[in-house]
Amino acid sequence: MVRRRGTYQIKIRDKQLICLFCQHDEFRHREVYMDLSPLGETVTEQLTLQSFSCTSCGDIRMFQEKNRFDHTLQKHVSIIEYMEVIKE
Ligand SMILES: [Zn+2]
Repeated sequence: MVRRRGTYQIKIRDKQLICLFCQHDEFRHREVYMDLSPLGETVTEQLTLQSFSCTSCGDIRMFQEKNRFDHTLQKHVSIIEYMEVIKE
């Protein structure tokens, strides 16, 4: 499990992630792995999700990491952007 330290503002496909409950925009991150085993069969696939918990109310939202082609940079970049919030 990967966990980024600190607090982040998150953009998903260039859209600022805002908490649905309290409109807060700062989150803690961790990476979650989920085994996909339909009907109790042997695990065939593992799903990796990025989990963001609101630092204000604790609500958790999860997203699957994907890449998109950025025409400015001319390369594939993640749809999820992390901007660390530096607290004094
Ligand atoms: Zn919240």
